[in-house]
Amino acid sequence: MKFATKAVHAGLVTDKTTGAISTPIYQTTTFRHPELGRSTGYDYSRTQNPTRKAAEEAVAALEEGHAGFAFASGMAAISAILMLYQPGDHLIITEDCYGGTYRIMDKIFSQFGLTVTFVDTSSLEEVRQALQPATKAILLETPTNPLMKIADIRAITAIARQHTPQPVHVIVDNTFLSPYFQQPLTLGADIVFHSGTKYLSGHNDVVCGLVVAGDPALCEKIGFIQNATGAILGPQDSWLLLRGIKTLAIRSRQHEKNAQAVAEWLTTHPSVTKVYYPGLANHPGKEIQDAQASGYGGMLSFTVDHPRLPAQVLRKVKVLQFAESLGGVESLITFPAVQTHADIPADIRERLGISDCLLRLSVGIEDVEDIIADLAQALEQ
Ligand SMILES: *Cc1c(COP(=O)(O)O)cnc(C)c1O
Repeated sequence: MKFATKAVHAGLVTDKTTGAISTPIYQTTTFRHPELGRSTGYDYSRTQNPTRKAAEEAVAALEEGHAGFAFASGMAAISAILMLYQPGDHLIITEDCYGGTYRIMDKIFSQFGLTVTFVDTSSLEEVRQALQPATKAILLETPTNPLMKIADIRAITAIARQHTPQPVHVIVDNTFLSPYFQQPLTLGADIVFHSGTKYLSGHNDVVCGLVVAGDPALCEKIGFIQNATGAILGPQDSWLLLRGIKTLAIRSRQHEKNAQAVAEWLTTHPSVTKVYYPGLANHPGKEIQDAQASGYGGMLSFTVDHPRLPAQVLRKVKVLQFAESLGGVESLITFPAVQTHADIPADIRERLGISDCLLRLSVGIEDVEDIIADLAQALEQ
C-alpha cells in the first residue's frame, strides 16, 4: 500500500456494531472481563485503550516499525526512551537539538546518572570521536532545529553497529520531516520518535508524542516503560491525532511546496543574510538529504542583517502568527534565541549560530503569495 493510502486507512477500527468509519473515541477507563482469567485484550486504559491503539498502529505503519507508543507529549516520549538506559550510560546527542531535549538531559536525566556529549551530528568525525565504551545511544535530529543541518542516518547507523563493547542504539527525532519525507527505521535506526504535536497532528490543536521501534524485544521494553510510568495519550487526543494523520500526505506536499517558494524568495531579499532550507541548491546537507529522504519539509530559518529587525517582523506579521510550535496548517514564526532555545546557554547558542538575528518559520498551507506578501511588508525597513 502506498503512503497516502496508509495514512488514510492505517489504524482504522471498524466498529462491528455500527460500522462507523471514524474510529470511535473509547472514553472509558476500564473494560468488563468476560469471565475470570479472560480479557477482551483491554483491561485498563493506562495499559491500552482502543482509540490509542489505533493511533499507535497508524504511526507504526507509517514509520514501518514493529509497534508504536503514544504519549502525552513529545517530551514524555523522549523521557520514556531515556528510561531505557541506566546510571553510567553515555549518550551522544545532536548539539543544536530541540531546546527541551537539551533541558531534559541537562537538568533531569543527568540527576539519574546519564552522561551526554552534544556534537555536530552532521560531522561523522565528531560522532566517532564522541564514542566512549559506555556509549549506549546516539540521538539525532535531522534536519536540526533551527539550523537545518543534516545528519547521515545510514552512516551513523553503520558506526553505531561497529561499536564495542556493545552496539549503540540510533534514535531519531523525526518531528521535522514526519514519515512522509523520512523513515529512519528503514535507514537502519533503532528507534524513531515524534512530537506528534507538530506535523503528525498538523492542526495546532493537540499535544502528543510517539515512539516507534523495529525490534520486538525493544518494543516490549518501551511498552513496559509506557505502562509503568503512565504518561499515555488520552482517547480524545488519540482521535485528534488519528484525524490529523489522514491528511499527512496532502498537507506535507503543500507545506514543502510553499516552503521551497518562501526559501527561494528570502534568498533574494536585501535584508536577509542567510537562508537555511535543505531544498536550496547550496545547502551543505542537500546531497545526504536527497539520499535519505524524499523531500525537504516545511521548516526553514533565516537571518536578517540587523538585530533590530526580528522584533519588527514579529510585531508586523499578520498572516504569519508569532507563536512557538510548528507543523500545523497555520504558518508560524518564532525567535529561537529567546523562545524554543532559551534553555541553551548564551555562549553555546552563539557558537551554534542561534543568534539574535535568526528567525524560524514553520511554513503553513495558506496561499504562498499571501505568506510572501506578509513577510515582505514585515521586513520593510
Ligand atoms: C516540539 C518538539 C519536541 C517536544 O515535543 P512536545 O510535544 O512539545 O513535548 C521535541 N522535538 C522537536 C524537534 C520538537 O519540535
